[in-house]
Amino acid sequence: MTLQQNVPRAVEAGLWFDDGNIILVAEDTPFKVHRSMLSQRSEVLSNILSVPQPPTPDESDLLDGIPVVHVSDTWKEISYVLLAFYQGYKLFGDGKPISFTVVSAFLRLGHKYEIPELQQSAISRLQTCFPVRLSDFKNAKTCDENPEDGYLHFEPPLIHMRLEEVPGVINLARAYDLLSLLPSAFYLCSFLPTRTLIDGSQDEDGNQLLLSKSDITACIDGHITLMQEDIVTISSMSGKIAPTCPSKSCLIAELFLPTKMDWISVVKESGGSLDHASWLDSNMVDICRYCKAELKTRWDRHRARTWILLCDTFGIGDTPEGWGL
Ligand SMILES: [Zn+2]
Repeated sequence: MTLQQNVPRAVEAGLWFDDGNIILVAEDTPFKVHRSMLSQRSEVLSNILSVPQPPTPDESDLLDGIPVVHVSDTWKEISYVLLAFYQGYKLFGDGKPISFTVVSAFLRLGHKYEIPELQQSAISRLQTCFPVRLSDFKNAKTCDENPEDGYLHFEPPLIHMRLEEVPGVINLARAYDLLSLLPSAFYLCSFLPTRTLIDGSQDEDGNQLLLSKSDITACIDGHITLMQEDIVTISSMSGKIAPTCPSKSCLIAELFLPTKMDWISVVKESGGSLDHASWLDSNMVDICRYCKAELKTRWDRHRARTWILLCDTFGIGDTPEGWGL
């Protein structure tokens, strides 16, 4: 691919300005942008732009004498950063959902090129979606009635991402010392098939996401621990009717509850240890509302305990500051 062939890519992204005065090249994609804009946002970029490379013969036709600077990032990553510079609030303003690949690029390139506002934007979005309080951890694996489309549906929806992309959060947390993200990220990763954990997954731009061996082990071990705790809790629920229960049929219904392993699969399908026990409302559990309320109270205690112990469950060193319900 020559630079010329990739100009339409830059035009389509809105990053080819006729009055641009510098060409930033990433992976053979040239972006015709403004030196002053880049220099204003990042001192590191400003220093890089001050030593432009002479264009190669291939480049000189296209570039008409405009200085060229090559960077080692992917063209997608650079395009996100440039779009943030040029369109900022319109595309990435507070509260607007952005994809995980953009969050990741903001954090990594924000760090590399010393652009604090990009880093901070990424960090605050990650900390909102992967919080230290259980009451703030709202997504497809903790809330009722989330569409089964593979996306996590965080609330608030600050990051648009699939479950397969969560290993990327663990890797960012490790690389940039954002350890408070780890417990909830490990919890979500524990829903991934073992094969996906071992082989790795991809983000929506095709970047490989692979955990370290020790983090894969922590995920699998943690998943087993969570399952065991779920089994203990569900076992203790059986045969316990509410003191206010008006119906003897509840006791009979509970005696004939599906086998406990069936319950486990229902729990896992609906969310897991931190869901709101929506499975209690399913037709499988035919008991009165008093007994349901009693069981939900027991499950809520289990949820709280699971959250408090999450760092131990996944072998994460110190409990993050502020960790709680
Ligand atoms: Zn009852």
